[in-house]
Amino acid sequence: MPLLVAKFGGSSVATIDKIKNIASRIRGMRQEGHQVVAVVSAMGDTTDDLLELAAQAGENLPAREMDMLLATGEQQSAALLALALQNMDCPAISLTGWQAGVRSDATHSKARITGIDNQRVLKELEQNKVVVVAGFQGISPAGDVTTLGRGGSDTSAVALAYSLKAERCMIFTDVDGVYTADPRIVKDACKLGQIAYEEMLEMASLGAVVMQPRAVEFAMLYGVDIEVLSSFGFAPGTIITEVGNMEQQRIVTGVAHDRNCAKIAIFDVPDRPGVASSLFKGLAEERINVDMVIQGATRHEHNDIAFTIESSDVPRALPVVKRLVEEMGASGMACGERVAKVSIVGAGMQSNPGVAAAMFEALAEEGINIEMISTSEIKVSCIINEEQIEKAVNVLHRKFSLDSVE
Ligand code: ADP
Ligand code: ASP
Ligand code: MG
Repeated sequence: MPLLVAKFGGSSVATIDKIKNIASRIRGMRQEGHQVVAVVSAMGDTTDDLLELAAQAGENLPAREMDMLLATGEQQSAALLALALQNMDCPAISLTGWQAGVRSDATHSKARITGIDNQRVLKELEQNKVVVVAGFQGISPAGDVTTLGRGGSDTSAVALAYSLKAERCMIFTDVDGVYTADPRIVKDACKLGQIAYEEMLEMASLGAVVMQPRAVEFAMLYGVDIEVLSSFGFAPGTIITEVGNMEQQRIVTGVAHDRNCAKIAIFDVPDRPGVASSLFKGLAEERINVDMVIQGATRHEHNDIAFTIESSDVPRALPVVKRLVEEMGASGMACGERVAKVSIVGAGMQSNPGVAAAMFEALAEEGINIEMISTSEIKVSCIINEEQIEKAVNVLHRKFSLDSVE
């Protein structure tokens, strides 16, 4: 019997009624002749609520214990979905990530899946059950519970689909596909029928939270096709897959935005070899990921360096940067958290010059100042004032005529 892996995100399992709705959808898949492995996220905002609860326990929050706590969210929804299925006379069993054999490395809170021992899942499927797996969690080589980073149930689903050779990996969410921009911000955004792995990976990494970037990376590496679709309707979704002739594709496929950025500037850094290396090594030692970097022109053998990091890393970054400012003999630093990143993504960009210029022109015409720029073959990103982010996304969506994409 063909096997479907179906992942249901937090908003799709937010209430018991929604869980029952999903249970009847899964029963429908079975009636159509499929075996089903369902992967679930925690109900609604449970993960955020657990994070807030933990913050009340004190300032020192060891990552191992945080993972023990956060993993409980997905266990609740897995058990509730299995209960709802059994109450509809649909045989089902819930499994934690480790019962389902999801092995990971030991990087608590951002663990990577290293392999899946799928015998238990296969045994339950053979017994004609729907297997409901708690997403977002695995087990480290030492036997400790790990979590896979925010949005990590997407990766659980893709990895299970690969391991079980599923016919399809379906990501059910609260929108009916991947759009040319976040449909909550751009009213005339268009649903894409298909998007290449590379473009989806850029969109996701640049803030389109509809897919976790690591899940797309995994799917691209192992050739797993993904369909993103709605838990609440029955319209066909968006297929994320390998697309040939990338350069002949749309010049711009989508606009992404990310408010989770902060900009740190260091002033009057002495212009000598090794300075940038000690700065970024210091941040890397704290596991802080640096995104964009700009080094200004040299004046009197000094220059300014600015870079962006995730807002949530600011509390850990500031002490490191302050220490390095002193050690390097720089004159000072500033941290701006009211910035955001807007990006255009498109595989056809690499063979069409002038796309970046068109982007900058569109932003300038609306009086939006660009603070930093970064480019790759298939994307251009700009750091701007956070207050202007929604306007910027809409302006760029219009500029590249994304309201008429098929
Ligand atoms: P889930 O809880 O199902 O994992 P998420 O909140 O993680 O759902 O992802 C779905 C959300 O992604 C949508 O509600 C939408 O606001 C947002 N989103 C951002 N960019 C896009 C895009 N380009 N296409 C579709 N949705 C997007
Ligand atoms: N519950 C986790 C989160 O909120 C994982 C997920 O939803 O995929 O990030
Ligand atoms: Mg998600």
